[in-house]
Amino acid sequence: MPKDSCRGSAAALLIAAVAALGGCAGTPGPEAGQPAGDDRPVVLTTFTVLADIAQNVAGEHLRVESITKVGAEIHGYEPTPRDVARAADADLILDNGLNLELWFEQFVDSADVPHVVVSDDIDVIDISEDAYAGTPNPHAWMSPVNAQAYVTAIVDAFSELDPANADDFAANGDDYRTELEVVQTDLETALRTLPENQRALVTCEGAFSYLARDVGLTEQYIWPVNAEQQATPQQIARTIEFVRDNDVPAVFCESTVSDKPMQQVVEATGARFGGTLFVDSLSEPGGPVPTYLDLLRHDADTIVAGLTGGEK
Ligand SMILES: [Zn+2]
Repeated sequence: MPKDSCRGSAAALLIAAVAALGGCAGTPGPEAGQPAGDDRPVVLTTFTVLADIAQNVAGEHLRVESITKVGAEIHGYEPTPRDVARAADADLILDNGLNLELWFEQFVDSADVPHVVVSDDIDVIDISEDAYAGTPNPHAWMSPVNAQAYVTAIVDAFSELDPANADDFAANGDDYRTELEVVQTDLETALRTLPENQRALVTCEGAFSYLARDVGLTEQYIWPVNAEQQATPQQIARTIEFVRDNDVPAVFCESTVSDKPMQQVVEATGARFGGTLFVDSLSEPGGPVPTYLDLLRHDADTIVAGLTGGEK
């Protein structure tokens, strides 16, 4: 993977930093941030989408937190010493895996905290282009079908962490999987009704491979993973060519990156800018996608409205 050596050095520094802070596994410290009187086990997740899924399984029994905040760019995130101390004090760490959290991997491997990768049972799609070719596409959560497997993994992890509440975790997981099935059916109904020549999804990041597979869309993106600092001329040219060749009516970009490269595609092709999609982060509670289920519904509505919005 690109930048491995850089990331490895950063992780080593962070491990040194947490040692300097006096943090050690199982020893709640002043950095833990848990309110007095709240002695529930702490589950630390790496990003807001995963935290919301986990919270739905946990109910009131566990305290679920996200390391990265709403709106954060999660692929290239650089954890702070406080993040690392929080992880050392947690009772369980959940992460997505599939190379999403390379910034955290080395630390998690060395921390003495139970750690579960929630994507272990999904059918992985590899990235086919650029420097990431042949590596797993990390955005498995963008498929509600995959999210059901995430829920199963989380129910198992929570039941091991807190066996007394295992029945509640199982019931919460069943309820949430039912909600995911409803969203999946609605997504399929909405997106499969698009005319054949309007079933191309063009985005900034290649985050929709799993969703596109599930609902029969053709995916094209400028860059495969948001760790890129800016689009290359070749990436822009490839996207422009695809939009022209397929007469794509609308293109999209994600909430955590600049849409300027996609605006270049808009100017060059006359396609509409169809709107902002949410992938790597939820919004604030008062925003358009405060929950993961809202995120899925918002993206489906935005895609359908963009691709059927009349003449370009
Ligand atoms: Zn992403």
